[in-house]
Amino acid sequence: MRGQPIFNRLALIGMGLIGSSIARATRAQGTARSIVATARSAATRRRVAELGLADQVVETNAAAAEGADLVIVAIPVGACGEVAAEIGPHLAPGAIVSDVGSVKGTVLRAMSPHLPAGVHFVPAHPVAGTENSGPDAGFAELFVNRWCILTPPSSVEPTAVERLAAFWRLLGANVEIMSAEHHDLVLGITSHLPHLIAYTIVGTADELSQVTRSEVLQFSAGGFRDFTRIAASDPTMWRDVFLANKDAVLEMLGRFNEDLATLTRAIRRGDGETLFNQFSRTRAIRRAIVDIGQDSPVPDFGRPHPELPHQPLPRPYAAED
Ligand code: NAP
Repeated sequence: MRGQPIFNRLALIGMGLIGSSIARATRAQGTARSIVATARSAATRRRVAELGLADQVVETNAAAAEGADLVIVAIPVGACGEVAAEIGPHLAPGAIVSDVGSVKGTVLRAMSPHLPAGVHFVPAHPVAGTENSGPDAGFAELFVNRWCILTPPSSVEPTAVERLAAFWRLLGANVEIMSAEHHDLVLGITSHLPHLIAYTIVGTADELSQVTRSEVLQFSAGGFRDFTRIAASDPTMWRDVFLANKDAVLEMLGRFNEDLATLTRAIRRGDGETLFNQFSRTRAIRRAIVDIGQDSPVPDFGRPHPELPHQPLPRPYAAED
């Protein structure tokens, strides 16, 4: 159901998976009266226009920011500071500026100095995504029942935070507010470390000399396939995430290495009890995630299963009557 718009003019800088999903959901929900969009390359801007994702597609970040009462920067975190410097002089007084970066501390430090007084900076991270990129990858329902974490500095006016929270709720998200530092620690373990493990394990399998590449692809169903989905995530985005969240990731990696050493020792010593206890604990965590509706209980992640073969068994294998 379309409601009263919360913003007059939404400017989207960056129209990949996240920016284009915000555009689609904003359209569907009527949360902004008009959408102006831009992207770095002419090819993406052209595609955004073809898809009709915005009322206006402009060539520069500065032109997008002009006159907008909400500006959302949806680009890799390493580029956010530069873009803030570009748009700073063009922001309307009272505008809310936000982002969607997967790391919050560095983005806050990179963008803040370029934003003029009278503009409200409310960083955000919608914890929702897929391994695909670009304007064609987005969809309006991406944020439904996902968390959007806002990390406003303490100096920001609460009404600006509440307005942005209302915007995200209308896109279907649940909103949580926390400090940028806490966000980076939490996401370090729940998102960044799992991606690092996926990138590592898929790379390791690829380099195994006793197992051919074709065998890795052919027999990938046994757990490895799910790692390959995560390891297909955008290289630029994830390079920037690890560079930007270095301290939290190194802290989590230290703990992970200790726990991996414990399991390594248990395997070497034949200590089945340690392994069983650990696996029981982690199974309970998976069930809790399903129970709170953050994943589907459908077996095998809901993948369609092919039918059993219908051919009769060849003679030598058929049972005697
Ligand atoms: P994406 O699909 O790759 O799109 C990135 C967009 O940023 C494109 O429009 C791209 O323009 C533009 N861009 C790239 N480099 C730029 C630069 N140096 N200066 C200006 N614009 C630039 O990426 P995404 O998945 O939407 O991610 C965008 C942000 O959302 C990232 O900060 C990421 O951390 C965060 N995020 C991602 C996910 C996820 O699962 N993907 C989830 C939550 C948050 P061109 O197309 O013209 O190159």
